[in-house]
Amino acid sequence: MESCSRVKISKIKEMEPGEKILVKGWVRTKRGNKNVTFVALNDGSSVSNVQIVLDGSKFSEESLKGVTTGASIGVFGVLVESPGKGQALEISADKLELYGTADPNSYPLQKKGHTMEFLREIGHLRPRTNTFGCIFRIRHAMAYAIHKFFNDKGFYYLHTPIITASDAEGAGAMFQVTTLDLSNPPRKECGAIDYSKDFFGKSANLTVSGQLEGELGALALGEIYTFGPTFRAENSNTPRHLSEFWMIEPEMAFYEIKENMDLAEEFIKYLVKYALDNCIEDLRFLNDMFDKELIQRLEDVVNTQFVRLSYTEGIEILINSGQKFEFPVSWGTDLQSEHERYLVEKHFKKPVILTDYPKEIKAFYMKQNSDGKTVRAMDVLFPKIGEIIGGSQREESLEKLQSRVEELHMDPSSLWWYLETRKYGTVPHAGFGLGFERLLLFVTGMTNIRDVIPFPRSPKNAEF
Ligand code: ATP
Ligand code: MN
Repeated sequence: MESCSRVKISKIKEMEPGEKILVKGWVRTKRGNKNVTFVALNDGSSVSNVQIVLDGSKFSEESLKGVTTGASIGVFGVLVESPGKGQALEISADKLELYGTADPNSYPLQKKGHTMEFLREIGHLRPRTNTFGCIFRIRHAMAYAIHKFFNDKGFYYLHTPIITASDAEGAGAMFQVTTLDLSNPPRKECGAIDYSKDFFGKSANLTVSGQLEGELGALALGEIYTFGPTFRAENSNTPRHLSEFWMIEPEMAFYEIKENMDLAEEFIKYLVKYALDNCIEDLRFLNDMFDKELIQRLEDVVNTQFVRLSYTEGIEILINSGQKFEFPVSWGTDLQSEHERYLVEKHFKKPVILTDYPKEIKAFYMKQNSDGKTVRAMDVLFPKIGEIIGGSQREESLEKLQSRVEELHMDPSSLWWYLETRKYGTVPHAGFGLGFERLLLFVTGMTNIRDVIPFPRSPKNAEF
């Protein structure tokens, strides 16, 4: 077995009949009779299986008993042209090694199809299905493409902290990090918990966004991006929210909102095109099995210009639409997914970048417009998803930033380091956050965000 090195099944199409080959993987199906047995083997390198032919004269029925769906085997043999349809080459086996059996009475992934809900309950085994193989290969390819896109443009990958003591990010409810004894925490005289006795000497949380630290990087290195996990303790049980998700946050010195929008549009198109160019076999599988318009939708996004319009114009369109929404719209309210999707799917039929939102519904750091009412925010809205990117030009004026911090009754002392960037060498700058799993929802055509991350975390759910 060891005289020949293992070949990934995805590479077989580059080989010739007659070549000797060693493959290792998991049995998807076994069928046949006394004279010949056919095994479909998958090793995770591709959605395609390789067919193994085991001749009855070399392999007794008894020796193949343990080779059942889910079992792991190694096969040494010769590549031959396949008379059957579905594959050009198959392996005529000479030697077989059984690594691990999988009891047919209990192994849950038998040949029949399974619901996505059931597969979520077996998160430890679902990567072995065709669907999740495709999704996780695409997820890998997108992560690689993100680094490639920014590296080719001269952006630096900046690692922002996962544990943070700044509670001013304001992007969402936070998970606390503490080593205090929860049954008997130290208390101050007034009765409040004394965080000066906690591990960091103050209260700490898991980050909800790397942006504030990302800005510090951009105001020194020019153009940076972060790509890491973020955590939100909101109780949002929706198909678009996770408690732990990955975010990509580029931040650029000397960019105004226009350049920020240009970058966001170029970035998403690059990623979608990368998937079409590099993951087409997996995309075809998802297209055929789940969503017959998937590939068409991906091609449309690459080839279309995103619509850009102001929040105020967007609200007018929604009010004049005559559409009944679950949440009523008026100027000043935050847009719900149903509103975002109406604009994208019904009205414009293409992605939309909405800008200049009311300052009350956006974060304190966004650049204030001269109308006194709106800020230079930009959200990118996508078909099927709604908001996929949230971003803005940042307020670079110390005075204006300070007055906004006061208006919102935030504590300037916890933000001293952030405010100092506006005191020393401040410049116009901008950035945005792309939710990695929202991107993957779009690229894979999945409809539940729990199916595009290997081990989803959501309220009441942290199994595996
Ligand atoms: P939403 O309004 O959809 O809850 P948000 O406005 O809270 O999102 P931002 O704080 O702007 O989101 O975060 C930037 C991006 O991160 C969003 O555009 C989205 O792609 C993604 N994102 C935000 N919250 C979540 C979540 N809970 N799970 C997965 N992705 C998320
Ligand atoms: Mn947002």
